[in-house]
Amino acid sequence: LNSLSESINNLSAALERQENLRKRLTSDVAHELRTPVTTLQSHLEAFIDGVWEPDQKRLRGLHEETVRIGNMINDLEKLSRYDYEARLDLSNFDLADILQSIQEMYGIKFSESKKILKVDSEHLPFTGDKDRIKQALVNLLDNALKYTKEKDQVEIRAFLEKRNIVIEVKDTGTGIREEHLPYIFERFYRADDSRNRSTGGSGIGLSIVKSIVEAHGGTISVTSKPEEGTCFRITLPSAS
Ligand code: ADP
Repeated sequence: LNSLSESINNLSAALERQENLRKRLTSDVAHELRTPVTTLQSHLEAFIDGVWEPDQKRLRGLHEETVRIGNMINDLEKLSRYDYEARLDLSNFDLADILQSIQEMYGIKFSESKKILKVDSEHLPFTGDKDRIKQALVNLLDNALKYTKEKDQVEIRAFLEKRNIVIEVKDTGTGIREEHLPYIFERFYRADDSRNRSTGGSGIGLSIVKSIVEAHGGTISVTSKPEEGTCFRITLPSAS
C-alpha cells in the first residue's frame, strides 16, 4: 500500500510539473510572438490606409519580422521535443569520443573564423543519451562561436571530480553581465543589450541544454565576466 501511494504521489507531482511547464511555455510564446505580430499588423494597416508607401525598406523590415517568427516556430518545435518527450535513449559510451567528434565537426568552423578551439578529455565512461548530450555541447559551442571574436579561445574540458563527471565549456569572448546571469537558462531570454537579434538566436539554446542536463540527473552553472569570457560547467553523475 505504501509503495502504491508513493507511486501515486510521484505521478501527481510529475503531472503537476508537466502542467506548469505547459502553462509557462504558452505564456512565453504568447509574449514573444506579440511584438513582431503587432509590428506586422500596424505597418500593414498603415499601408492599407495609405498612411505609408510600401517602399523597399519598410517591406524588408516586415519581411525580417516574418523570418523571426518563422525561426521562433522552428525553435519551439525543437524545444517541445526535449520538454515533452523527456524519454532518454540510454546507452554506454565514452564522453571522450563525443568530445572528439565535436572537435572534428567544429575544428574547421573555428579556424575559418580565426578562433581557437581546444578539446581535452580523459576516458570517461558514461550512461546516457548520446545524441542529446552531444546536442547540449553543440548548443554551448554554437554560443561560444557567436559570442567570441577573432583570436578568442574556446576550451572544452571533461574530467572526473569527486565521483562526478564535469564538462566545462570556457570562452574568452564578450562575457555576460552579472544582472543577466540568473536568467540566461530561461527560455527566450537573451542578455544582449536592447535584445539585439543580429546573432540570430531566439534565447532557447541554453534552456534546451539545461533540460538535457537535468534529464540526466545533472546540473549546469555559469560564471562570466564582461570582456573576459564565460564558463559553463556541467556536472553529471558518473557511471562508476
Ligand atoms: P540565443 O539563441 O540567444 O543564443 P541562448 O539560450 O543560447 O539563446 O542564450 C541566452 C543568452 O545568453 C544569449 O542571448 C546571450 O546573451 C547569452 N550567452 C549565452 N552563451 C554565451 C556566451 N558563451 N558568451 C556570452 N553570452 C552568452
